[in-house]
Amino acid sequence: FYMQMYNFNSGPSILPEYVLRKAAEAITDFKKTGLSILEIGHRTTAFIDTLQEARQLAKELMQLGPDYEVLYLQGGATTQFMQVPMNLLGASDTAAYCDNGIWGTKAIKEAEIWGNVNVVSSTKDKNYSYIEKVFAIPDAVNYLHITTNNTVEGTQWHTIPGTGQTPLVADMSSDIFSRPLDFSRFSLMYAGAQKNAGAAGTTLVIVNKNILGRINRNIPPIMDYRKHIEADSLLNTAPVFAVYVSYLTLKWIKEEGGLEEMWKRTKQRAELMYAALDSLDIFTPIAAKEDRSLMNVTFTIENKNWEDEFLELCKEHGMIGVKGYRTVGGLRVSLYNAMPVSSVVKFTELMSMFNDRKK
Ligand code: PMP
Repeated sequence: FYMQMYNFNSGPSILPEYVLRKAAEAITDFKKTGLSILEIGHRTTAFIDTLQEARQLAKELMQLGPDYEVLYLQGGATTQFMQVPMNLLGASDTAAYCDNGIWGTKAIKEAEIWGNVNVVSSTKDKNYSYIEKVFAIPDAVNYLHITTNNTVEGTQWHTIPGTGQTPLVADMSSDIFSRPLDFSRFSLMYAGAQKNAGAAGTTLVIVNKNILGRINRNIPPIMDYRKHIEADSLLNTAPVFAVYVSYLTLKWIKEEGGLEEMWKRTKQRAELMYAALDSLDIFTPIAAKEDRSLMNVTFTIENKNWEDEFLELCKEHGMIGVKGYRTVGGLRVSLYNAMPVSSVVKFTELMSMFNDRKK
């Protein structure tokens, strides 16, 4: 049906074949309505049912209770860098942020517009190649913000920091739905859908209602989480197709065995990749061992010319998305939920072949 390429892109990225097939069907006829998903009204029963099911599925996969609301918004995770402080941080309040990568840094810059920011830990000193896990959270901060997985640098929080009474807010863009966690420890989570949660065009926000309405800023309705909750995530025209693709993706995750099964596969893929990196002479992983991301694997090759040569070889073998982010350099492969373990095996075989050729 598809899969002519091994897609190691960091996002938008690989999706399950089931999702692509169902989405293709819906383009011509959505739920036998005689209308395309691209034509159908966002307030039709057919679409509203899908939206509400998707919201429910997200809660179910994360085992969250009635305090939590799932919203499908627009504007990408980048808009959440602004929307989070706009809703949670009063002008004279302070929020704590961990600075562990370029996305977290952007979140900090946006928060500084709305209130005070206390950067409680930063790993900028070593190009964000590790995560500082021991730090103090000052009293009376409105929340602590972390990025659970640093897509660009290839690091990940493997243990979620304890925050006591302080609400925890997380950008989960690149590892949402890849592992079971006690999600009730988070007060707000957000993620662009275009990695593990669907296609580009919508952003998931999962919020504990109890943290809202504590500040007295006049928030424009479209930026106000409470308004979106009141409207059951249909405050204005929803990104209909993107929501449908996300619904299909969550349904696929559930039918495959939920987050436990995703976690099993996540570990298998990452173990294969890091085992190759650790054993082949010319390849070197970038991230500190204990903080290695299981989703985005960053590495270098002994010399720059070989990197270019290896990228060329990848291309010849239909493997795309292997080049690292421009600020980090080197190489990166993203191993999201839809990536078959067999594709990772193929990739490590190519690494091994290239290593032999050079040694
Ligand atoms: N946060 C993280 C961790 C990301 O990986 C990305 C995008 N790759 C973003 C935020 C920005 O997301 P968006 O492009 O959806 O605004």
